[in-house]
Amino acid sequence: MSHIFPRNTRVTLPTAAKGDGCYLIDSTGKRYLDACGGAAVSCLGHSNEKVIDAIKTQLDKFSFAHTGFFGSEPAEELANKLVAQAPTGIDRVYLVSGGSEAMESAVKLVRQYFVEKGEHQRSHMIARWQSYHGNTLGALSAGGNKWRREMFGPLLIEMSHIDPCYTYRYMQEGETEEEYGLRAANLLEEEILRVGPEKVAAFFAEPVVGATMGAVPAVKGYLKRIREICDKYGILLVLDEVMCGMGRTGHIFACNEDEVRPDIVAVAKGIGAGYQPLGAMLCSKEIYDTIAEGSGFFQHGHTYMGHSLAAAAGSAVMDQLTEPGRMEHVRAMGEKLSAALHDEFGQHPYVGDIRGRGLFRALELVSDRGTKAPLDPSFKLHAKVKQNAMKAGLMCYPMGGTVDGKTGDHILLAPPFIIDDSHIAEIVEKLSLAMKESFTQVGVSV
Ligand code: PMP
Repeated sequence: MSHIFPRNTRVTLPTAAKGDGCYLIDSTGKRYLDACGGAAVSCLGHSNEKVIDAIKTQLDKFSFAHTGFFGSEPAEELANKLVAQAPTGIDRVYLVSGGSEAMESAVKLVRQYFVEKGEHQRSHMIARWQSYHGNTLGALSAGGNKWRREMFGPLLIEMSHIDPCYTYRYMQEGETEEEYGLRAANLLEEEILRVGPEKVAAFFAEPVVGATMGAVPAVKGYLKRIREICDKYGILLVLDEVMCGMGRTGHIFACNEDEVRPDIVAVAKGIGAGYQPLGAMLCSKEIYDTIAEGSGFFQHGHTYMGHSLAAAAGSAVMDQLTEPGRMEHVRAMGEKLSAALHDEFGQHPYVGDIRGRGLFRALELVSDRGTKAPLDPSFKLHAKVKQNAMKAGLMCYPMGGTVDGKTGDHILLAPPFIIDDSHIAEIVEKLSLAMKESFTQVGVSV
């Protein structure tokens, strides 16, 4: 009898027993190819000796020194490595234990920054529908997944949401990508003017939307226009790279590809690569200095921030992410994965869109490719694909469509950066099998 409180009380899961490169092995010895890094976490696979050694070495020195009493070498080193890769102007690193903590810290830093500047009226924050920023109440308030928000509505901070940049569903016929990008970004200006520019503090966005939409990159120019609008009204731009950052798109920071400089950027998942719970909120010198020269104290904090084992792991991960050729490999394998997905599913009657960047790819499922109508939600096809993939020895990350029908079910792939051609072939073969079986189960022939 288990005393664990699981995510889903109706599902019995296999027991993980061992990691081996791109594979996880359960207690019966069955191997699962990890094509999603859990949730875009395990970017270096499951048995990376350099990260394991870095943790062991640090453990022999000390494991925990509370940041209210001590600084530490691993934390300093990790911060230096992050800033060296971060967009221009990003200067300070606030180390936490995961993505929600990083985004929650961002929400509060934004507010404190404006209070310190005497702009107390700036408390309104704007984010986007169909986004995910974490499950703590501040981060959930920024998130735009109606299903996740619904239950907790009365507890959420009031924020407003604009439509995301989502070519497949929102780009109009006859519009170029560039025109659409501008139109989508200008929604932010409309919302700022509706709320009153003097009240708006920040805008939140994932450069490539992960969990809620499935690897949806903004079109070229969108984030640049967003930056311009934020600058015009003195609003902070907060980018959430918890899922798409740390090399997932083939760039250590995804926004560097868009040539956009945020004021605050959050990372997690890939930075600890699953070896330690780790996240970070990075901010500009201007924000840091405002607090340092003001009250001198960011009114936030968590017991485990800057944990030395997590920082040592993150530092060893950064060393490997920045090795020569690593990001080139991610981009090259990403193109191969995309090509293999197009070969296998390009003509599939229920695959409406195949998209993504680097090793961050997704399929969106629809009931009709012409109308793009989502699948009947009662099919719970995403859950079936996950189950059938696990049966076939494949981990992928399918999610249901949004409750308002604005996205269909999708399957997200985010394999470790160490995959080779044979892994790509295995992913596509097993995913194809799992999809066939799932459609058969709901009485739809493919
Ligand atoms: N932001 C984004 C973009 C995410 O994808 C996630 C996790 N899926 C989070 C924040 C929250 O991270 P965590 O689960 O580590 O709290």
